[in-house]
This record gives sequence, C-alpha cells and structure tokens, in this order.
Amino acid sequence: MMEMEPFIRMENGQAAAMLTIESWRRQFPEIRAGFTTRIGGVSEAPYDSLNGGLHVGDDAGHVRTNRRIIASLAGFAFEDWTCAEQVHGSNVYLVRAGDRGKGRNDRSDAIPDADALVTNVPGVMLASFYADCVPLYFVHPASRTVALAHAGWKGTALRIAEETIRVLQDQFDCAPESLYAAIGPSIGGCCYEIDGEVASRLAAALAGEAAVADSKMEWENPGVGLKAGNDGRYVADLKEINRQIMIKAGIQPTSIEISRYCTSCRTDLFYSHRKEKGKTGRMVSWIGLKEEVAD
Ligand SMILES: [Zn+2]
Repeated sequence: MMEMEPFIRMENGQAAAMLTIESWRRQFPEIRAGFTTRIGGVSEAPYDSLNGGLHVGDDAGHVRTNRRIIASLAGFAFEDWTCAEQVHGSNVYLVRAGDRGKGRNDRSDAIPDADALVTNVPGVMLASFYADCVPLYFVHPASRTVALAHAGWKGTALRIAEETIRVLQDQFDCAPESLYAAIGPSIGGCCYEIDGEVASRLAAALAGEAAVADSKMEWENPGVGLKAGNDGRYVADLKEINRQIMIKAGIQPTSIEISRYCTSCRTDLFYSHRKEKGKTGRMVSWIGLKEEVAD
C-alpha cells in the first residue's frame, strides 16, 4: 500500500493554501496544527506570496497581512500568534499566558533565542518559520500540552527534538511513549547534499553523542538518513534523522507522522532557501490548543 501524505490541504474556501495534519484533526479535535504553503498571500516576488517571515526583507505590512490570513484560517485570533527569534540553536522556551502575542507584529518583542516552543495555555498559537528546515510538532493529549521545534541541520545535530521531549517530560510529566509527533514538509533526502563535516555531526546526533570530539572524525556506516553522495560529499534526509532521534528518545514509531513533501522539489508549493539561493519567503508551522468555551 502506498504511504499516505499526512499533511493535507485544508478546505477553507480561501486563496491561501494551508496544510493540516489530517489524522490529528480527527484524533485530537482540541488541537489545531499545520503548515502553510507559499500560495494565496499578498507578498510580491521573490516572496510570493504567503510569506510569514519578517526577517527576510519583505514588506512588513505584507507579512502582517499574511499572518492575519494564516491565523484566521488556522482558527486563531491574530493576537494569539506567538513566535520567537530562531537562531538554529536548541533552546526550548516554555510559553506562558503572558507571552501570548509576542513577535506577531514586530521582531523586537519576539521571544529571544529559541528554536522550540512549548505550551499548555489554550488559545496560544505557537508559530515558527521555514524554508527547507524541518518543522517538528509534538502533542501530549493527556496533559493538553503542545510543542513546535525548528530543526535545520544545526538543530538536528544539536538534537532539538530530544531537548523538546525532555522539557515536555520535566515540566509536564509527559511520558515519551505517550507523545505524538509529526515531521512536516522540508528539504528531502532527494535534494540535501552536505559536506563531510556536517555529515559527521549528523552521524554523531544519530549515534546519540552530545558532540563530535573531532569534527573530521571518520565513520564507516553513516546510518539511516545519511548516505555517501558524489565527490566526497554526502546526502542527508533530515526528516528521517529527526524521526530516528525521536524514536531513540522514546516516542513510538507508530505515533510519528512524516511528510513526504520536499520543499526544494516543490517550489510551486513551498519556499526553498537552497533552490532559490537564499532570496525567498518563509512558511509557517503552527500548533495550539483551542480556547475552552465558557458556559
Ligand atoms: Zn527534493
């Protein structure tokens, strides 16, 4: 049987094309989660058109309009949009009620220096930004806790997935085996060529090592998610490497959804930093809990 793509286009009757995690929509009706495409916003080339990133040189007014469109279709108020300044690190930030809305209009009040956000506050829409990097989503249904993590090769090598799982465990008592995770559209193993130094750091992350003592270390069997490419280079499947890190951290393989979309192959749908040589927009991943309805 063909594997199904878990990220499915939402039926919103609007121009903006947004993807939702179909199995979660049915399984966890209290959770809203998904990923934007580049289609249906107001930004002009090369940011055309649903750019969510304020840091890429696009017109800020256009980005704010796009963010309002995205929040509304995701089922949130614009005031719920909460985001951080991503730095390709592995800091996990615990979002509380007082953080709601940070960074939505302006980078100056975004949560600083965080590539992963965790919350159990209903009505907070966590958002983060992508053009090839891997969006990671986490849900712990019993404690009604959700998380987002941004994993490029650096975040993957720093095992940000494991860091996020650790915070969920320490702060919310989420047993890893009762967590659900999703891995969204990103650059695929088809398109992501890297040099030996990056490959050795990813191999170390796969092996569960904190850091590579010698960045030029030799390794024989790169492992799942890494293979030799042309001219001494390597090819990495960052989605698969993050899946392996999640499984090693205790999430059940059957509880992990993984997108088949490659952002570099599909620039008709997505922004790709590599394919578009750095001059492009950003997709948005979002997750949040519906606000509880008062009687
Ligand atoms: Zn590709």
